[in-house]
Amino acid sequence: MSFTALHPDAGRLDATDPELGCGLAWSSIYKVRPRIPLTCPDCGHGVHARRSTRGLRHFAHDRQRPEHCELAEESMEHHLLKLQLAGTIRETDWIAELEVAAPDSSWRADVMATSPDGSRRIAWEAQLSPITVDDIQARTARYLDAGVETCWVTTRRETAWLGQVPSIRVDPEDDRWRVDDGVAGFDYDTGRWSVQPMPLQSFVTWVHRRALAFHIILPRYRRVHRPVDQDYARRPVLWTTNRSTEAEARHERMRQRQDERKKAWQEKQAELEQQREEREAEEERLRLEAEAARKARDERHRRLRNEHQELQRDLDTLVRRGRWALDDRRREHALEQRRLQEEAAARKREEQRAADLATGQAWWGVLSAQQRTDLNEAVTAAAWKELTTRAEIKTDELWPQYAYGKVARFHGRRPGVFGIIRPCPELAARCPDLRHERIFVRNAGEARLLVEAGLDAAHITDFGLPDFEQTALC
Ligand SMILES: [Zn+2]
Repeated sequence: MSFTALHPDAGRLDATDPELGCGLAWSSIYKVRPRIPLTCPDCGHGVHARRSTRGLRHFAHDRQRPEHCELAEESMEHHLLKLQLAGTIRETDWIAELEVAAPDSSWRADVMATSPDGSRRIAWEAQLSPITVDDIQARTARYLDAGVETCWVTTRRETAWLGQVPSIRVDPEDDRWRVDDGVAGFDYDTGRWSVQPMPLQSFVTWVHRRALAFHIILPRYRRVHRPVDQDYARRPVLWTTNRSTEAEARHERMRQRQDERKKAWQEKQAELEQQREEREAEEERLRLEAEAARKARDERHRRLRNEHQELQRDLDTLVRRGRWALDDRRREHALEQRRLQEEAAARKREEQRAADLATGQAWWGVLSAQQRTDLNEAVTAAAWKELTTRAEIKTDELWPQYAYGKVARFHGRRPGVFGIIRPCPELAARCPDLRHERIFVRNAGEARLLVEAGLDAAHITDFGLPDFEQTALC
């Protein structure tokens, strides 16, 4: 179906216009005989006027229409949207024409709106079938080249091109065909665009009056808020008022100033950070220097301590050696002293012995040979008498330990010392051996001298020999 057809005399017919766009009445073409040969503007096939069950006037292709005819293939929904657009445009003082093609056929507008003075033309395109963003942008550009503004209109919810070209979505379920996407206002306080629904009639009126214009959103603000579903959508292009466009520009300037301040602040921060890093590097360098100095100092101290310890060890060694040398000297000195003392003592003993010998010899020197013989014989006789054994007397040997007396021995079955003969009284006190021996003296005078020297008189035997030799008497 379509709303346009070509009349052989009147030219282009528009079923949506009461006068069919050319001053003819519907009755002049609807169910008249003979049939008026109307044709399709798109394919040239024959069409006839028809009225739908709901009373909608339109044209229908005759039988055996060509396979490809855009008008024939358009859906009822599409036709109704075009019809709604045309009707809405006509509510303003603008002229609406359907399916207007370019002279060179580079475009064909679903509904072409023309201002009363003819200075402005707007192509209102009902777009329900899928189309790529590239295609719709190319078609928009072709209109623009021809000096025609455009607004793409859809009833579909999910369209990739909505907001990529001047476009709106209308809600066909709404009595007033509410525009619920594609128009937005900018809120300076929140700094965002927000979709503002409005009736289609208001939208068209304001577009015609330039109260609304399509606007290319600044890159920063392309996330547009949709209050209807509390969601956001990317919208590079939307319809809005001058006031919102200015608010956006003002906000952008404020944001640029903020950005500049932020950049300046960041640069300042970076500068401070660099200064801080430099300061830390300097502190680190100083710390390392101090650390190195401390290590060097510790090393020096350690070396000095080692040297000191070595010196101390050397000193200790020297002291110990000195002490040893001193001890050696002392020991040698002591030995020398003792040796000298021993020599002196030996010398003294020798002197004593020599003195004693002289004393003993003097003691015996007073006796003549006869007197000695008499004494020996007296001892021998005493031995024989007491023990019936012979005593042997060594006449030339004086015994120092017996105070230079002579020893009388006897032999036989029990040999032993018989007694000591005539020890020297002067020496007897220093000869303890004498105390256990029997003593023989010449007479009482000698015995008395020995008792005075400390000997026991009971051990002393005196033979009563005269003191003086009676040589004269012999
Ligand atoms: Zn056709």
